Amino acid sequence: MAFFASSLSPSYTLPNLSSKPNKFFTKIHPFSFLHHPPIFRPCCSLPFQGRESLNFNLLASVTTADVLLDGAVEEVQLPKGGTWSIHKFGGTCVGTSERIGNVANIVVKDESERKLVVVSAMSKVTDMMYDLIHKAEARDDAYIISLDAVLEKHKSTATDLLEGDELANFLARLHQDINNLKAMLRAIYIAGHATESFSDFVVGHGELWSAQLLSAVVRKSGLGCTCMDTREVLVVNPTSSNQVDPDYVESSRRLKKWYSENSSDIIVATGFIASTPQNIPTTLKRDGSDFSAAIMGALFKARQVTIWTDVDGVYSADPRKVSEAVILKKLSYQEAWEMSYFGANVLHPRTIIPVMKYDIPIVIRNIFNLSAPGTMICRPDCFENEDGDRVESPVKGFATIDNLALVNVEGTGMAGVPGTASAIFGAASSEHSVCFAVPEKEVKAVSAALESRFRQALDAGRLSQIAVIPNCSILAAVGQKMASTPGVSATLFNALAKANINIRAIAQGCSEYNVTVVVKREDCIKALRAVHSRFYLSRTTIAMGIIGPGLIGGTLLDQLRDQAAVLKEKFNIDLRVMGITGSKTMLLSDTGIDLSIWRDLQKEQGEKADMQKFVQHVHGNHFIPNTAIVDCTADSHVASRYHDWLRRGIHVITPNKKANSGPLEQRLSYTHYFYEGTVGAGLPIISTLQGLLETGDKILRIEGIFSGTLSYIFNNFVGARTFSDVVKEAKVAGYTEPDPRDDLSGTDVARKVIILARESGLKLELADIPVQSLVPEPLKDSGSAEEFMEKLPQYDQDLAKQRQEAEATGEVLRYVGVVDVVNKKGTVELRRYKKEHPFAQLSGSDNIIAFSTQRYEKQPLIVRGPGAGAEVTAGGVFSDILRLASYLGAPS
Ligand code: ADP
Ligand code: ASP
Ligand code: MG
Repeated sequence: MAFFASSLSPSYTLPNLSSKPNKFFTKIHPFSFLHHPPIFRPCCSLPFQGRESLNFNLLASVTTADVLLDGAVEEVQLPKGGTWSIHKFGGTCVGTSERIGNVANIVVKDESERKLVVVSAMSKVTDMMYDLIHKAEARDDAYIISLDAVLEKHKSTATDLLEGDELANFLARLHQDINNLKAMLRAIYIAGHATESFSDFVVGHGELWSAQLLSAVVRKSGLGCTCMDTREVLVVNPTSSNQVDPDYVESSRRLKKWYSENSSDIIVATGFIASTPQNIPTTLKRDGSDFSAAIMGALFKARQVTIWTDVDGVYSADPRKVSEAVILKKLSYQEAWEMSYFGANVLHPRTIIPVMKYDIPIVIRNIFNLSAPGTMICRPDCFENEDGDRVESPVKGFATIDNLALVNVEGTGMAGVPGTASAIFGAASSEHSVCFAVPEKEVKAVSAALESRFRQALDAGRLSQIAVIPNCSILAAVGQKMASTPGVSATLFNALAKANINIRAIAQGCSEYNVTVVVKREDCIKALRAVHSRFYLSRTTIAMGIIGPGLIGGTLLDQLRDQAAVLKEKFNIDLRVMGITGSKTMLLSDTGIDLSIWRDLQKEQGEKADMQKFVQHVHGNHFIPNTAIVDCTADSHVASRYHDWLRRGIHVITPNKKANSGPLEQRLSYTHYFYEGTVGAGLPIISTLQGLLETGDKILRIEGIFSGTLSYIFNNFVGARTFSDVVKEAKVAGYTEPDPRDDLSGTDVARKVIILARESGLKLELADIPVQSLVPEPLKDSGSAEEFMEKLPQYDQDLAKQRQEAEATGEVLRYVGVVDVVNKKGTVELRRYKKEHPFAQLSGSDNIIAFSTQRYEKQPLIVRGPGAGAEVTAGGVFSDILRLASYLGAPS
């Protein structure tokens, strides 16, 4: 399958990087600027000034410089080269009078010998201008009110900033422009349509006004400053693809002429607007002021182009979508181009080519944060030797393009028929199918064109279909080093798989500077965050939700608190508890709960528990790609939700034994379910069993003392002691459940037997396990725990007798669970063991588990140790969390 982000493959359009050394970059510039007397020159051409009636022939609308200069032409040679510094200020930079004042300050303070400043329209003005046209086209009279708003905005800005002649001049021109626009919009209103050149002419006014304002404010500081209407200088040719191509030769010629008549060391130029070779006003299309600045950079062969905007530079991903995005200090031209091409709108994609040709660096800087150095875009070798700045990740950044549709042309008849792909692209490889993305709004036209072009092939069955997959987005990973680093795509796809995101199409340009994937639009931000965090955050970041902050859960949270920093630092594992819920209250956080005060936070900020909301919150945080829910309850209702969570791509970790009593259902291949804590608390029982099975051993039998309580009771049921006496002692010591019958009934042991049986491949249910209960039949349902304890001594006889019989043959009684894998059975019962048997050697409340396997047939593999208690159980859960992290790719 071939896939192209657009019909123009990005990899082929960039010219080769020039190999000459970067002369501009290393040059030291003298700190000088020439102080000119203020120049009060008419600034920027006035399309209709002085004309009595409106002339809609736009050819005439761009006046030539000699009209402006009252014949006072002074021939001055344009000094090209490193004395020039180009600045471009985006719309937000000049959004208010205060900001324009601030920009003027920056311009004045720049110590370059000569500077050319490109400005955008004040923020929102271009949108307002387009809106005027749309309203007029729709014959909506409101365009008049909207035009008034445009007038008011500029009038009040000018009044804030200027005075005297400058103010009067500006306002006179502004009123003149508005009158002309009114007449023009009226014509559009009558026609119900605006041609592209009419529309371009109207929308370009935003730049004319902001350039006039800024140049006047710079002049206020006493410096000479002229204003350039770039329609007089920049000549561009329209192309078929809603783009324009600069004509450098003609523009350069016009620039020389313009400069000879307007020479100045500070020039404020309009961004965005230009002329066709026939002098028809046009634009460089939306966001085109960056492109204007780059063209100017090339025309002047400037030292540097600085693009001022409202963010600290180019981030590794759109900071509005990924709040953990990082600033990229340096980018190669190619990388910056790919980033912007694939949607990083901090830079217009066409900004790179003009400056790259002359090795002119571009610096992106934040006007609102002058202390940030910004992002330097230059040739890769200009920063290769600098230590510390090098980003380790081969992927520099990610960008996305929304509102795309995939078109898939499919059919076996394409194989071996050369030219199908070219026919497809003419109308709008393993040539079994050709798949490409187009903007959603163009997809109808594209598929109609394809269907008509391939009608015959479709009818004959050579092509099976032309399918359109709507609502898609492109996600691109960009980085020059990707070319020489194996495994980048694998990591990328892996991150997407783990975030449960389906990839619709894949492409990698042969330049290998980008890998692009197409995903469903609704998955796009999640995908972006998943891949971004995979390359930029810790290798393994897991958003965790802890259910049941009681004894075990609380201990786990404390253990996490103590280990979090070490895990992050040494092992690159970033565990973030995004939520903690009990049965009544829950605590949620967007960035991760501070575990040193989680108890206080729960009290102060806890809200009413709501499991659905809780899970949604923990899992919905798209910028952490992995979610794990840790269930520390013993609640079967919570356990019954696991299946759903696993299906949704949430990993589940639990010591809750109720979990595995129900039928185990299939889960997603990338979702993990760990439950080491369900058997033997933190003892490595499940993992040992899994390890044996995974390495090809065959389990014959698992036999063990799985209950710490019953272990304690039988370890101490010796000498003259009665059974009820030992039970009482265990209860007092806190080893039993509040009602000891819960331990003595054996159900808990049976659950563990089921878990191990299933793990060994047996399909057993709880009902299949015969359980020998130690609760005397008459006491099964006899009232309270206290009553039970009172009556228990009446039944001591039976167990005393069994013990005596055992002792007579040198044996002891032990309460064990058995998984008989050979005979596919499980049992829970009281058994006798020789005094030398490991089970007879136990003390305290230890658990012991013996695995008899094909490899460990004569001598079983034994795991022994404390099998109950909050510390060890929580430790078991914790080690499951780390196992999950290592499954997810944390270094081991
Ligand atoms: P201007 O009006 O100054 O030209 P833009 O709005 O065109 O500004 O571009 C700046 C905006 O680009 C930022 O505010 C930011 O939201 C957005 N943006 C998208 N992707 C990125 C990225 N990777 N790095 C920085 N900014 C980005
Ligand atoms: N003012 C124009 C626009 O909004 C150009 C620019 O700001 O780059 O598209
Ligand atoms: Mg922009």
